[in-house]
Amino acid sequence: MEAKLRHALEKDEFRLFYQPKVDLETGKIHSVEALLRWNDPDEGMISPAEFIPVLEETGLIVPVGEWIISQACKDISSWSREHNIDTGVAINISPLQLRDPGFCETLKRLISENNVSPSRIECEMTESTLLNNTKENINKLNQLKELGVKIAIDDFGTGYSSLSYLVTLPIDTLKIDQSFVRDMTTQSGSAAIVKTVINLAHNLGLEVVAEGVENKSHVGFLQQHGCDIVQGYYISKPVPSNELIKFLKSYSSEINQVFKHDSDRVVLFVDDDPTLISLLQRVFKDEGYLVLTSNDAAGAFELLATHDVGVIVSDQRMPHMSGTEFLHRVKDIYPHTMRIILSGYSEMSDVVDAVNQGSIYKFITKPWRAEQLKNVIREAFKVHEQTLKPLID
Ligand code: C2E
Ligand code: CA
Ligand code: CA
Repeated sequence: MEAKLRHALEKDEFRLFYQPKVDLETGKIHSVEALLRWNDPDEGMISPAEFIPVLEETGLIVPVGEWIISQACKDISSWSREHNIDTGVAINISPLQLRDPGFCETLKRLISENNVSPSRIECEMTESTLLNNTKENINKLNQLKELGVKIAIDDFGTGYSSLSYLVTLPIDTLKIDQSFVRDMTTQSGSAAIVKTVINLAHNLGLEVVAEGVENKSHVGFLQQHGCDIVQGYYISKPVPSNELIKFLKSYSSEINQVFKHDSDRVVLFVDDDPTLISLLQRVFKDEGYLVLTSNDAAGAFELLATHDVGVIVSDQRMPHMSGTEFLHRVKDIYPHTMRIILSGYSEMSDVVDAVNQGSIYKFITKPWRAEQLKNVIREAFKVHEQTLKPLID
């Protein structure tokens, strides 16, 4: 195998497959993971589990790793150019590759040669990769962060890393190993590990991905425990680039429904400006919420009475009643709602008073950005559901 692998690169026998990951919050595709395949002329497609160790032992993983990054960058830019698809790609990086002194430079060069935005690349590394040469690794990871690529820890939970060391690393994502996901719905030990890793990640401000998601009960369990992203055969096997394109194009809102929270998340926007209301409706059209709107407080009270509203976003400056006054009243009647205000700087003193009185949960100063508002509302729903849970249980 070693002799054959030495020529596999020049004979163009490697392929990159891609496996999609789904965002559980929205049901949309989050990104894809690039997975290497070797198309051996005698034996056909060989699994990486068989040949990656040989590439590692022989050092071939360094040139092959460069090919992987280069191919992924080419695919990313052709997806953008030809199909208007802007999905990010996670690339597996082996320990030897990270240790190579030229690694960061090579990555930087390939990214810029292919005109790829670094934010579309995530490097997946296992705990053990990061544990050797700790000081040098931290330097490398910081260089990667400066480049603008994201970093994920793969197979999390299977290594023997010290948590105090891990938290010093500039990482973005934890991937829960599939061995835990496989039996988390039947084995209490795995269930405990999965729940703990999700909490750990969130407490550290990291995203958490579960891999090896194979059925509906896996999805349900992960959804119930607040996992952000899922990957596995239940969504799709790893497929070649052309099949991935087909998959992404046909991935419809019908499939989204499987992952979406049933619209039990109701958000209410209150603003007297009709253009702002229609902007908000557009921004939140596909976020998985039931979106209600009103142009005044009176209409908002009607909607609150007839819907189980979780999050309310109100403009501060409105003709008959200020936003803070409105939300103060809402608090008395619906204390468990999450109340957010959109305010200009000139109205700040009223807003500060309202925060101190507990009438509002957060304020956002104008002009707001769509991403920022989405994040605040998503967080608000999480807090809302956490506070309601003990009441329901
Ligand atoms: P990994 O990084 O943990 O990748 C996930 C593996 O789980 C992949 O196996 C994927 O096909 C498989 N998988 C995905 N969904 C499911 C599922 O629902 N059920 C089950 N049972 N398996 C699922 P694959 O492609 O055979 O890769 C195996 C390992 O080889 C990878 O594990 C990774 O460690 C390594 N590898 C793959 N591609 C590369 C690469 O480009 N570079 C490096 N350095 N290593 C790679
Ligand atoms: Ca991986
Ligand atoms: Ca893994």
